[in-house]
Amino acid sequence: MSIDPRSYTYGDDVLKGRIILVSGSSDGIGKALARHAASLGAQVILHGRSVPKLEKIYDAIEKIDGAPRPSIAVMDLESANAESYTTLAQSIESEFGRLDGLVHNASILGERYSIEQYDAVVWQKVMHVNVTAAFALTQVFLPLLNQSEDPSVIFTSSGVGRTGKAFWGAYAVSKFATEGLSQVLADEHRHGKLRSNCINPGATRTNMRLAAYPAEDRDQLKRPEDILAPYIYLLGPDSRGVTGESFDAQ
Ligand code: NDP
Repeated sequence: MSIDPRSYTYGDDVLKGRIILVSGSSDGIGKALARHAASLGAQVILHGRSVPKLEKIYDAIEKIDGAPRPSIAVMDLESANAESYTTLAQSIESEFGRLDGLVHNASILGERYSIEQYDAVVWQKVMHVNVTAAFALTQVFLPLLNQSEDPSVIFTSSGVGRTGKAFWGAYAVSKFATEGLSQVLADEHRHGKLRSNCINPGATRTNMRLAAYPAEDRDQLKRPEDILAPYIYLLGPDSRGVTGESFDAQ
């Protein structure tokens, strides 16, 4: 019987002992996921570019009863070079020796302009942070994921990454590419244990959503905490064998 990840229910220790890196865990969905995963027993590696924001979430996790103490990985995905990636992977290898979950959550919105008016420099930046950085993180972490008994990679997609929509520019195109990257990775590992899937969070009350839709009634939107079940499903043991798929969180 297949599970609907949106209504997945799980025990308090479903992620116990798993080492999970969430990119962009300083805010929004990534922050909520990092906290929740820690409360379910995961050893979370908090990735982001802002030390003060990461320290705040670190402190919040430290206060959760029984949650393993998290780690902080500071790296700006816009400016990181090959050495930054290698150093990050080496530090996780020496601390943990493996990685069980990698959640590509960090993204930027870029501009809301037509293709005709879209700034080429902004285009490149969005593609770099949203796609190239996810590729680079995946590549550098694959040896550590291969050390896991049950490795899971999650990419974050969007509705505009499945059907193109006017004025969503590089963001939409980056999300199509994200779906493609997840599928290519899944197919390359189809005979192995690593699974790779996409989640489209759907409209969620975060700063990115506010930037995209400044006039909407935010109270009508789901909070990041409300949409996490599919992430927990894909990070935990019940999704073994599920790969190459794209799920909606709402
Ligand atoms: P937020 O803008 O709230 O959070 C984005 C996160 O990414 C922040 O932690 C941010 O860090 C981090 N980030 C951005 N740029 C960089 C960078 N250069 N280096 C390191 N970290 C960076 O967005 P959401 O929580 O809304 O979005 C999370 C994911 O969900 C994204 O992939 C988004 O595309 C996707 N999504 C969101 C939807 C929504 O309605 N909210 C709908 C569909 C998809 P910092 O705190 O420093 O800014």
